[in-house]
Amino acid sequence: MAANGGIQIAGLAKSYGDVRAVRGIDVSIAPGETVALLGPNGAGKSTTIDMVLGLLDPDAGSVTVFGATPRDAVDRGSVGAMLQVGTLLRDLTARELVTMMASLYPRPLPVENVLGMTGVSSFADQRTQKLSGGQTQRVRFAVALVSNPELLVLDEPTAALDVEGRHAFWSTMREFVASGRTVLFATHYLEEADAFADRVVLMAHGTVVADGPPNEVKAMVGTRTIRATLPDVTAEELERLPGVNSAARRGEAVELSCADSDRALRALLDTYPAARDIEVAGAALEDAFLRLTSAEEAVA
Ligand code: ADP
Repeated sequence: MAANGGIQIAGLAKSYGDVRAVRGIDVSIAPGETVALLGPNGAGKSTTIDMVLGLLDPDAGSVTVFGATPRDAVDRGSVGAMLQVGTLLRDLTARELVTMMASLYPRPLPVENVLGMTGVSSFADQRTQKLSGGQTQRVRFAVALVSNPELLVLDEPTAALDVEGRHAFWSTMREFVASGRTVLFATHYLEEADAFADRVVLMAHGTVVADGPPNEVKAMVGTRTIRATLPDVTAEELERLPGVNSAARRGEAVELSCADSDRALRALLDTYPAARDIEVAGAALEDAFLRLTSAEEAVA
């Protein structure tokens, strides 16, 4: 990859007083890549995103966006952003707002197309202060897209959307990135990162704790537990089943911690048909993050 292509984040750090929000991270994003910044609340995702957009100055390190400073890249219309905070301009209809934003850029997308893609058309004539949270979020998305940016930066883009809204949002995003655009989005939903990103950068406590394809990161944090009643089989025997990381026995019950719970469950039932009262529980992502972070801190 050319050194000036995509986004280069090097040694980036930012503190708020005593809070070290971002502690020296390195991330390189190639043009055309869709990267999820995944992590629990407080991990430093928004702070990182604000620095990528030139809204916050780093204490140390640097960010380059298509070979330029973030502010220059934003000024020339290469970057579209959708943030969690900020109200929309009042007393304009959604259509007027998007039209006004389009007029500020050299190569905007046709406004009606953008209103259609983002699901705004049906309420485009309502004033922005009358919109629901989900509608406001769609208008923000329309504003981010209308400049026709090479890079789209989104902070928790689906936070205010219901399930249907999320599906619609990601299908629009798929259309948008199909044309070779670069996307960086922050999320605390593992499922969203997994379904949509080419690559997941996992952050916790201001550091990058993992960076790789969604499958790899999912295997690190997405462990599940299978519980079943199954006497007369040892934990050691259960640990040999495919997909199982570790096993423990509590009386008649067994508990399997799994990297691949689907495989483990099939193997469990094939090998031990007597297993009953089976439950599969997703590990809390927060727990996985904590585990990874404490591992990281122990090494540091
Ligand atoms: P995330 O987006 O992953 O939830 P943030 O970047 O918002 O994480 O926050 C990282 C850390 O910095 C948190 O501990 C948060 O409380 C703190 N923080 C964020 N913004 C501010 C601020 N403006 N002033 C003080 N502390 C802040």
